[in-house]
Amino acid sequence: MALIFPESFLQEVMDRNDIVDIASRFVSLKRSGGTLKGLCPFHKEKTPSFTVSPDKQLYYCFGCGRGGNIIGFVKDIENLDFVEAVKYLAEQAGMDIPDTNEGGAANNAKLRRTIYKINSLSGRFFYECLHSPEGEEALEYIMRRGISQAAVNRFGLGYAPELNKLLDYLRNQGFTDDEIIESGMAVKNERGDVYDRFRNRLMFPIIDVRKNIIGFGGRVLDDGIPKYLNSPETAAFSKSYNLFGLNLAKSTKDNYLILVEGYMDVISLHQNGIDSAVATLGTALTPQQARIIKRMKPEVIIAYDSDEAGQKATQKAIELLAEEDLTVKVLTMGDGEDPDDYIKKNGVGAFRELVDNAKLQIEYKISKLQEQYNLDIVEDKIKYINELALQFAKIKSPVEREIYVKKVAQETGVSADSIFSEISRLNVISERKSRIDGFKGQPSIGAIRSLNPKKENALRGQRLALSLICSDKRAADLAMENLIESDFDEGLHRELFNLLMGIWRNGHTPDARIIVSQFEDSANVSRILHDDQNIEDKLLAMEELIRFFADERKKRNLLDTLLNKKASQEQTLNTTNKMFEKGGRDQ
Ligand SMILES: [Zn+2]
Repeated sequence: MALIFPESFLQEVMDRNDIVDIASRFVSLKRSGGTLKGLCPFHKEKTPSFTVSPDKQLYYCFGCGRGGNIIGFVKDIENLDFVEAVKYLAEQAGMDIPDTNEGGAANNAKLRRTIYKINSLSGRFFYECLHSPEGEEALEYIMRRGISQAAVNRFGLGYAPELNKLLDYLRNQGFTDDEIIESGMAVKNERGDVYDRFRNRLMFPIIDVRKNIIGFGGRVLDDGIPKYLNSPETAAFSKSYNLFGLNLAKSTKDNYLILVEGYMDVISLHQNGIDSAVATLGTALTPQQARIIKRMKPEVIIAYDSDEAGQKATQKAIELLAEEDLTVKVLTMGDGEDPDDYIKKNGVGAFRELVDNAKLQIEYKISKLQEQYNLDIVEDKIKYINELALQFAKIKSPVEREIYVKKVAQETGVSADSIFSEISRLNVISERKSRIDGFKGQPSIGAIRSLNPKKENALRGQRLALSLICSDKRAADLAMENLIESDFDEGLHRELFNLLMGIWRNGHTPDARIIVSQFEDSANVSRILHDDQNIEDKLLAMEELIRFFADERKKRNLLDTLLNKKASQEQTLNTTNKMFEKGGRDQ
């Protein structure tokens, strides 16, 4: 098929859609290690063999062998052709569909790259200003807030000086006013004057997981308003699709992310060694952000301010996060405090204790309802129980539900049976729905593979190595030094190896979704690139594989030597025979 859409457009379509979101509409996915698993929507089965990799944005079914990227999934599930599938996804993301190869998306991608450049130069400019005489006041403010120089460097904090120093600087760097306005770093008033958006503010670069500066938050140093000013929505920046600190928190070893309200809270926590903290970008948590969190970790701890606004926001965030099947916990501090204040007052050790003792959301809700109602009044008690029943009805585990029901029964003196019957009344609707959704199909009879076990071992090693090379730079570096083309079977494995190595060697990072789309056998490629999903320490795994490959090579060499020896023996024999045949005169 001729290339109808420019590659940059396809890239953007895939960037803006999450395979987990789309697949979740057809399959109920459960986390299992680094992958999500569910009952395959393409074949009938009773045990899940359909897997989705949130990191690589690929799917693969071990039952029926279907697999690929998000475009392939939509194609298959909605029965569309390639063009229709791309259009479907573009519409989902609210993108305009280009008419030709020179379409809007290509321009958009170009604009995005320009904005990244402007942002990165602006970030450096702000950083330098902070460390110049002009930034003295801002630097003092930072010190006063107890932010270390290391944290300033880590987060790339800076200072936006008076009008229009940044604008002049960017113009000198060769950017047009239009480009600077598109980046959000400057604004144009109704008289047509262009001027800096940020002035006399402490600047927080907002960095995505691919390490691009996508926008900025600027904080006033005095009592000016607004206290925080963020970059507007641009071709590179969307407030609802990003989180502050995610570029760092994505590498945390913790099994959870801590969600806080402010940029300062994030910095304060990271500076104190709690590297799992992220914050929303000046707005309430969005469903997209909840999904991003789910893609990273199975658990989230909400640590919003303990004032009324913070507690209201907590309730809303719980709903959104629970919707994504995340384990949601809530951490509560003293009156009117935020994590930054709390740590300053009580030390990081005390905060870590709060993290360890964070309440499960249901317990948090129970305690909130207890504050709200006076259980000595009958009417209040009824309302209390009804509201709790509503919460309990949402609990999926029957064991967990029973524990809470019994606890509440004990506290209130209402029998557990009555609470249960209230819950089942509420559950009728959802049960009816799940019965319709249920699968009645026969289990599939999987093809039994009769592969040589040793050969299968070697292939497994190759697959794992390829997926590690695709996902981890350090693993790829190791592979580059220690592995050779002939370590991989001819055909798909070897092609993939060469392709991945080429990408890294050219200074790029492989994008699994794009790689999949470059192969005829995209399902198999998807399966291969899935392989490292449950590997915790990718570097260690690669080290082990390198030893494995070295062994394989030795075996192969030995075999080759033996074969060669045999061959040369035979040849000698042949020559001798020929010599004799020809009566001894030769060469
Ligand atoms: Zn399947």
